[in-house]
Amino acid sequence: MTDKPETTEKAPKIERRQFRAIKGTRDILPPDSALWNWFEQSAREVFESYNFRDIRLPIFEETSLFARAVGTDTDIVGKEMYTFTTLEPETEKLNDLRSIVLGWPDLWDRQQFEAYKRTVELFVQAVEQAMNAPRIPADRDNRTVAQNLKNHAHELMGVSPQHATDFVERVRADARALELGQITTLRPEATASVCRAYIEHGMQTLPGNQKLYYVGPMFRRERPQKGRYRQFYQVGAEVLGPSDAPAIDAEVLEMLLTFFNCVGLTNIKLYINSIGCKECRPKYVERLRAELRKVKDHLKEDSQRRIETNPLRVLDSKLPEEQPIIEKLPRISDHLCDACREHFAKLKDELALRGIGYQENWRLVRGLDYYTRTTFEVSAAGLGSQNAVCGGGRYDGLVELLGGPAGIKGIGFAIGTDRAILSLQESGNLPKLPGLAVFIAWMGAKAYAPAVAIAKKLRARRFSVELPPEEMKFKKSLGLADKLGAKYALIIGEDEAASGTFTLKRLSDAHQDKLDESALLDRLQSELRGPNA
Ligand code: AMP
Repeated sequence: MTDKPETTEKAPKIERRQFRAIKGTRDILPPDSALWNWFEQSAREVFESYNFRDIRLPIFEETSLFARAVGTDTDIVGKEMYTFTTLEPETEKLNDLRSIVLGWPDLWDRQQFEAYKRTVELFVQAVEQAMNAPRIPADRDNRTVAQNLKNHAHELMGVSPQHATDFVERVRADARALELGQITTLRPEATASVCRAYIEHGMQTLPGNQKLYYVGPMFRRERPQKGRYRQFYQVGAEVLGPSDAPAIDAEVLEMLLTFFNCVGLTNIKLYINSIGCKECRPKYVERLRAELRKVKDHLKEDSQRRIETNPLRVLDSKLPEEQPIIEKLPRISDHLCDACREHFAKLKDELALRGIGYQENWRLVRGLDYYTRTTFEVSAAGLGSQNAVCGGGRYDGLVELLGGPAGIKGIGFAIGTDRAILSLQESGNLPKLPGLAVFIAWMGAKAYAPAVAIAKKLRARRFSVELPPEEMKFKKSLGLADKLGAKYALIIGEDEAASGTFTLKRLSDAHQDKLDESALLDRLQSELRGPNA
């Protein structure tokens, strides 16, 4: 039941305004939405044929999960995440009290100052209770802040208003730093969530490798442009388990390419690389850093900074003036340890065995320590600068980094659905998806009941049927059937109603027949679903 307004006063006039989707987000409307559903459904079917299973994950997670898994030095975590604090309802009052502690305007008057001190005392007590409950985060950092607050509040109690400024500031700094709710982020990607779920549910105890796929939206505050949105969609897959056999990597790539082939995304290129492991990569990174320092003055600001923070990311640079310099840098393939070299060689053998073509790209790196060995990317035609439709690789150290069991390896990829569909649309290689099958053109009061009845029967057979809610003139009715793209018009006039028959008109060639119900059902079945449908 909805609440009734309590007064009979005239409702205030509401400003007329049109809402628009927020920048970087968009609506996927019919008929495009059918293409999206087909794309995602095809992924499900292909992935399940490789024994991958769907995992449904939360859209938001604790911010620190992404900070840890994606890395604080990345653009995603540094500036692109949608982060907010979720307060429990019981914490709202504590939040109000904090606002008073932070905002009390007049502290010079003795009476006011005494009242302020009592408020601070109340706040400190309330924080202590909330932390013990716990209704607010009780991790080590927050406990330290609460302890500092208590100490600083204690010091404040003994001072006079004239000497209070520094003491008040310290209390306020603590109050500001205190986390009252959970800091939460809309997921910018899903690998971190898959690993979190794997650990949380002890999935390492399940038989075999865990082969999981997900489908859904991701959120990054990037600069919107063609193929780049702030809410975008990914279809991804991950394999988690104790083995890092190159055959796993190869099977993942085979599945990915089988899927692209199945949806007709054939104008694509697969790039692969190996970025070593914790044995060989640090040595390579040091070599790279040393070489980069020598050419520092010729690089732009971002790359200069990355020499110290994350030299591998310099290889990602797209700046034309940096390209000749980067081309001369040492390559990881010359610095792999024996085990990594062998892993990469076996992967290439496995790809050959499966008939998969690829190009090696030594600049395909990932900046984070837990990424190991295989990395890959797929680019597609028709997308301009945003031409990567899929990125992936091995992340053997991630599960452990997130507090999970040691020795669990992982590999996975994420396909950008928006871009993959854009590329399909650009290529014109689109599937014919079933639309409206039957438009029921009924005329005359007597035709209405049989129209409702046959519509129900056709829909029970899962034909898409449009039944006009109001009577229409014959010509208008057929005109609408045409505009809606119906395959057939099912005409029910007074004649048909009286004789219990139907006139079925095929709109592509205007061929029509008068049929009884069972002949009608058979005809539609064979024409729409038969071998030549
Ligand atoms: P990543 O998780 O960054 O490796 O991205 C995997 C894939 O997701 C990319 O290859 C893109 O196809 C897609 N993608 C990433 N960011 C966006 C975005 N902002 N808009 C649309 N697609 C994106």
